[in-house]
Amino acid sequence: MLGAQRSYFYWFGSGDKFVYFDNHLAVHFVDVRHGDCQIIQLPDGKIMVIDTGSERQWRRVNNYIQTRIKPRNNVIDYVIITHPHEDHNGGLSNLKSKYTVRNFIDYNVMYDGKEISTSSYRVIFHAIPECLIFVDTNEWSPIITLEYSNKVFIFTGDAGFPTENLFMQSEIAQSIFGEREEPLKTYLSVGHHGSANSSSIDFIAFVNPCYAVISVGTQFATLPNDALVQRLENNGIQVYSTRDTGDFVVLAYGDNDTHFYGFTNPINLTFLWVVLLLLVFFGCFIVWSKR
Ligand SMILES: [Zn+2]
Repeated sequence: MLGAQRSYFYWFGSGDKFVYFDNHLAVHFVDVRHGDCQIIQLPDGKIMVIDTGSERQWRRVNNYIQTRIKPRNNVIDYVIITHPHEDHNGGLSNLKSKYTVRNFIDYNVMYDGKEISTSSYRVIFHAIPECLIFVDTNEWSPIITLEYSNKVFIFTGDAGFPTENLFMQSEIAQSIFGEREEPLKTYLSVGHHGSANSSSIDFIAFVNPCYAVISVGTQFATLPNDALVQRLENNGIQVYSTRDTGDFVVLAYGDNDTHFYGFTNPINLTFLWVVLLLLVFFGCFIVWSKR
């Protein structure tokens, strides 16, 4: 599944067919190269941003918000920062100056234990105070679950095995992923850009995902890690990476869900039209000059 398919997906993807409808849930895994940025259109119309990508990617993220998300009055209801690394929070000051952020939640606030619950969805920031003891600040990333209908989306920031282990011990996590009458359809946003020390065999068995999305660019040749991708695929999980698909979106309504990927960049389209018009213009000029 994974491989050098970027150009194929980028030009022939289904992204441009994406249309958001009221009362639907849309989870956007924005292609921010090496970094993380997920934007969620919640069924009650609220907008949640989990990480902003790096500062270098801000123009791209802002363009995405303006053209695909179109927040009313430039209001973003929730901005979440998983941990203090540039590839996750680099666009934060730009985002705060351009948009009205109603609720800002970072790794400190989350450790008070935070939950957003409505009649149609529930978001839980799995606050594990022991994680803040880790020297590796990647492990500060709390695991975030979004439950909607028969689906659960799991966002993991750069969390690795230690945080995953603590998460699996928590009662609330066990109540979400334990025995159920109706099987869950789980989407896993793979931790730490698909590094070798994320998504352990135990964690994969615990959350039992159908789909895994890796937010990764081409900056590090070792990412995503081959063994990790193998681990996921050996468990029958469909693996996508933003390196190959570009932006990846899950649109869900009740039990139904559809995938979109590979948005064409509108700036590129404008550029192509300008080039085409110039070619036509020069073609006409050459024909005219030879008469
Ligand atoms: Zn990162």
